[in-house]
Amino acid sequence: MTHAEAGLKSGTPHAFANLTLVEHPLVQDKLGRLRDAATPDKEFRELCTELATLVAFPATADLETTETTVATPLDWCPAQKLTRVPLLVPILRAGLGLVPGFHALMPQAHVAHIGVYRDPDTLEAVPYYLNLPDDLRGRRAFVLDPMLATGASAVAAVNLLVERGAAIEDLRLIALIAAPEGVSRVCAAHPSLKMFSCALDKHLNSHGYIIPGLGDAGDRLFGRGAGRVPQTRAR
Ligand code: URA
Repeated sequence: MTHAEAGLKSGTPHAFANLTLVEHPLVQDKLGRLRDAATPDKEFRELCTELATLVAFPATADLETTETTVATPLDWCPAQKLTRVPLLVPILRAGLGLVPGFHALMPQAHVAHIGVYRDPDTLEAVPYYLNLPDDLRGRRAFVLDPMLATGASAVAAVNLLVERGAAIEDLRLIALIAAPEGVSRVCAAHPSLKMFSCALDKHLNSHGYIIPGLGDAGDRLFGRGAGRVPQTRAR
């Protein structure tokens, strides 16, 4: 099946000015293996990490740096260092799968967590856990979720960051696969928010899954044992 037959975009322009599609051949090779239902869990997790690193590279291209000086073995040399400690904000639980890949490039990044689950009936985002710094003014933050599906969780997460003082221009939304419905919803809520993804797929199915997508990213990362709806009390 060709890309066109599968309805997948490949190097083609799309309608979303703030969405950067990372279409490097190495990314697309790994993405194909990530999608494959036959890919074992261990390899799935490794691919998530590698893809996150490859997406992190363009997504961090405009991080602010400060001039410094280092001593090489032979002389002093002007150098640059990141001005601010970046913040990674994985949306629980699947967003955790992107943290190691971002940490590979930015080991100094802090991690804050937002728990948002999708109500299986309404498909709306229900926040259930929040562990964020009180003051996000001036902070560069990367909201991580491998699947930008309905966009409900992403919008809820970004709203929570903005409530703590984050500026939209300091935020980046990172996905591995996006659906047009989700990108549209994020654009409607936050028209200037910059988004990065490896692919823009065809559409959502009636359960809010991305088609063709890769299935349930959380299940493929962590298994199905925990269930999809967070429990507030031990059973
Ligand atoms: N979340 C997933 O894990 N997969 C989808 O296709 C949509 C949301």
